[in-house]
Amino acid sequence: MKTKLVVLGTGFGAFSALKELDSDIYEIKIVSPRNHFLITCLLPSTTVGTLEFRSIIEPIRNVKNVTYIQAFCKHIDETNNKLQCVDADTKKEFTLDYDLLIISVGEVTNSYNIEGVDKYSYFLREVADARKIRIKVIDCFENASIPGITEEEKKSYLRFVVCGGGPTGVEFAAELHDFIEEDVRKKYPGLENDIEVILIEAGKTLLNSFDAKLSEYTLKIFKRQKINVMTNSYITKVTENEIFVNNGSHFSYGLLVWAAGNTGTELIRNSTLPKNNRIKLVIDHYLKVNGTKNVYAIGDCTEIPDEPFPVTAQTAQSQGKYLGKSLNKLAKGKEIKPFKYKDLGMLAYIGSHKALANTNQYKGSGFVTWLFWRSVYVTKLVSLKNKILVLFDWFKTFVFGRDVSNF
Ligand SMILES: Cc1cc2nc3c(=O)[nH]c(=O)nc-3n(C[C@H](O)[C@H](O)[C@H](O)COP(=O)(O)OP(=O)(O)OC[C@H]3O[C@@H](n4cnc5c(N)ncnc54)[C@H](O)[C@@H]3O)c2cc1C
Repeated sequence: MKTKLVVLGTGFGAFSALKELDSDIYEIKIVSPRNHFLITCLLPSTTVGTLEFRSIIEPIRNVKNVTYIQAFCKHIDETNNKLQCVDADTKKEFTLDYDLLIISVGEVTNSYNIEGVDKYSYFLREVADARKIRIKVIDCFENASIPGITEEEKKSYLRFVVCGGGPTGVEFAAELHDFIEEDVRKKYPGLENDIEVILIEAGKTLLNSFDAKLSEYTLKIFKRQKINVMTNSYITKVTENEIFVNNGSHFSYGLLVWAAGNTGTELIRNSTLPKNNRIKLVIDHYLKVNGTKNVYAIGDCTEIPDEPFPVTAQTAQSQGKYLGKSLNKLAKGKEIKPFKYKDLGMLAYIGSHKALANTNQYKGSGFVTWLFWRSVYVTKLVSLKNKILVLFDWFKTFVFGRDVSNF
């Protein structure tokens, strides 16, 4: 009889573990509401049509010798090795048994209970979110083109606000800027002088996990791109028509994208497994959840107390790879070594064909770094199909511009 192994999630951690796990040893079931793996790092590019949605996802059913179940795990009963799950579509509930469990459920966007954020802002985590943003961006330009609207109304539709100066907020603002520069001028002539992009960041600077010089460089480039960066500022309230900022100012807006931080999922929040005050499962150096015998956890939803790693795709991926290999070894009675994190650094796109690289060997910015950024992500894409689609999308955008059809 094979060992029953259940993996929760289809993100970076889970997908990397699945690539390693030996299906001759384990009967593998994957439970996740999302039936595809998503390269989140390229998600901002889909919000304005630089890339198409299907180019950056990989169906989980392409993974051989595993059973996929499209559901949420609602409750982990670690005493009886049972999972209570709910069908993501019909909401029908069912139970699953496991011998071994890998939890890689990531995190959710944190709205910090600020009034109106959940209702009126747009999050950017999933393909469905990016799709909603793309529709809304185009709607803003179409609405601003309706005859008879006042100047004030036009300016409101064309005021794009991004909350959060981390990589997601910065990359979205950068993509929006490229769209405005390269496509809006041609497709919506006459609107360019009424557009305003505002980036609101609570901290002193943008991209605070990057080298200080790279953060400064980003501020300089954003200034040149006429992105209005408001540092040391935070949103206190959002209504259907207005955004209120802590400095007392308030303004109308067309779109608010919220990328101001993450928090634990409901599953981890309600779990009885050991977790810290940031709602992350506490794991040891073998990625096993503290105090358990057969529950492992990886990626954004975890933390090793004496060795916190950056909350990135890279961490989740290397943990998944390590865990898949380790579980194969353990099943064969072999010894395993503790997980060692190798920091490969970070990359970010900042618009106008410029990117940042913050690695141990190289800290750079500009056009050449942008070429490097693109080549890294092409190699990171899982399948040949995705690589071809992404290269084709970039070529298509360069030659024909972004498609502004709305549907
Ligand atoms: C827009 C965006 C851009 C980013 N850009 C970068 C970047 O450039 N570089 C970088 O290193 N990192 C980037 N990140 C962060 C990176 O995506 C995460 O660090 C990484 O995805 C973490 O992997 P994970 O496996 O822990 O979780 P995720 O990849 O988030 O996967 C979580 C999975 O769990 C599933 N799930 C959730 N709840 C349940 C449940 N109850 N039951 C079952 N399944 C569940 C989800 O559907 C999903 O499949 C970005 C993130 C975003 C949102």
